[in-house]
Amino acid sequence: ARHLIWFRADLRTIDNTALHSACLDPQAEVIALFFISTEQWQQHQMAGCRVDFDLRTLTVLSQTLATLNIPLIICHSPHFNSQIDDLSDFCKQHHIEAVYYNFQYEINERKRDLAVKEKLSQAGIHCFGYHDQCIVAPSTLLTGEGKYYSVYTPFKKSWLQAVQRQAVVVYPAPQKRISCPLTSSVVPNVLSEFSSHLSPAFAQQEWPAGEEVALTRLHDFCRHHIRRYQQERDFPALNHTSRLSPYLANGSLSLRQCYQAATLEAADYGASKDIDHWISELIWRDFYKHIMVGFSRVCKHLPFRLETRQLKWRHDEADFQRWCDGKTGFPLVDAAMRQLNTTGWMHNRLRMVTAMFLTKDLFIDWRWGERYFMERLIDGDLSANNGGWQWSASTGNDAAPYFRIFNPARQSEKFDPQGTFIRQFVPELAHLDDKQIHEPHAKQFQVGLNYPTPMVNHKTASAETIQHFQSLKQID
Ligand code: FAD
Repeated sequence: ARHLIWFRADLRTIDNTALHSACLDPQAEVIALFFISTEQWQQHQMAGCRVDFDLRTLTVLSQTLATLNIPLIICHSPHFNSQIDDLSDFCKQHHIEAVYYNFQYEINERKRDLAVKEKLSQAGIHCFGYHDQCIVAPSTLLTGEGKYYSVYTPFKKSWLQAVQRQAVVVYPAPQKRISCPLTSSVVPNVLSEFSSHLSPAFAQQEWPAGEEVALTRLHDFCRHHIRRYQQERDFPALNHTSRLSPYLANGSLSLRQCYQAATLEAADYGASKDIDHWISELIWRDFYKHIMVGFSRVCKHLPFRLETRQLKWRHDEADFQRWCDGKTGFPLVDAAMRQLNTTGWMHNRLRMVTAMFLTKDLFIDWRWGERYFMERLIDGDLSANNGGWQWSASTGNDAAPYFRIFNPARQSEKFDPQGTFIRQFVPELAHLDDKQIHEPHAKQFQVGLNYPTPMVNHKTASAETIQHFQSLKQID
């Protein structure tokens, strides 16, 4: 028998449900396939740094699979529609009996998978899809009324009960197989079709690729930082969160591996609130995936709270560009945007601060910000990004109340008290003292600065935004 493992957003050999299943029959030859889909990636605004990261991850994956006698074949298939025929042709050409893959939950991906299944079954090829991305599969957790949860706290309660009922299993990498006559492909360099804002050397050093690196980072985090997570997680200058999101986004690491590492740490050295808190962040990731399946409008540029469609967001290109470039005149916002632009990643506290600033202080459409993040983030993930944006814009399920608007200067004093983070990314403010750095143009500091004056008055801008929200008519 010949089985095909179709890799998509699960670029690892350990704890890969589809790969594990494809390898259950020790006599079967197993071939791996990955499609390079440049047009589709462009349509999905995939960041250049993310493309680079995925290509580097594929190189590592291919080497690991080769040691297991599983050749990784890489084919060009420009978009999801072309993949349907290309996959079917590949299967016929290579006499594949069964195709194995892990589900993706975004709407275009789901449509493609349905079409693939239909096409392959017509040709007599078996198709096996698996829930793998979430720790608890979407549609298995429903409210008493049989609906998808839209509020996090009851979802979390039900999630914790589910993992107690059924232990979370992490599969080992498959055993070495009988050899296969095909030769692995060389990973093509398609990066030139994307504009990557990171230098290759920086990207390679900051975000080395592959599942081994991801596991080392996970274990380092559990050993050194997880027990101070609650205390340290909100301070961007410390940089002590796990920074595993890029590895989770392309599946170099599974969420189950994270959960297992955290629970083992608790079992070995004692339970702690910090560990529980980190696990609750993993649950947020699952939650937004469940939301995407239960309420597919979030994949279609629609707000979760439909009444917020009445909001007349500003579509001011020039103001938007100042936000993108980190030139708003609000130091923490600018430092954060420059972190994104130069490293491909942004700290969670700052994602909330910058998203709230764009939507509540500038009253610019959250979809513009969502898109810009996708174009820049190495960890871009539709459900987490959309969830985070809709939370910040108060258009989402269980979102920040519209009247509770972050004051960027107060956030800065609270979460970057010495201005260490600001100094790193906004060097023109580095010489200011710890007080002035948060509000360099405030009246009491009368100095000439080569730094923009604040582009809005936070107090009046947020009061106007609150009024816009108050005038919304409810829609059932
Ligand atoms: P840790 O604090 O170590 O948390 C561990 C893991 O839990 C993360 O890697 C992530 O997978 C998950 N997690 C943590 N917080 C959240 C959250 N709020 N929602 C969902 N999952 C979470 N995350 C992405 O992975 N991709 C995105 O495109 C993305 N866009 C965002 C946009 C906005 C406006 C906001 C407010 C948040 C966004 N997040 C996104 C969520 C969060 O900011 C990142 O997951 C987190 O900063 C990644 O850093 P870390 O791995 O060090 O997280």
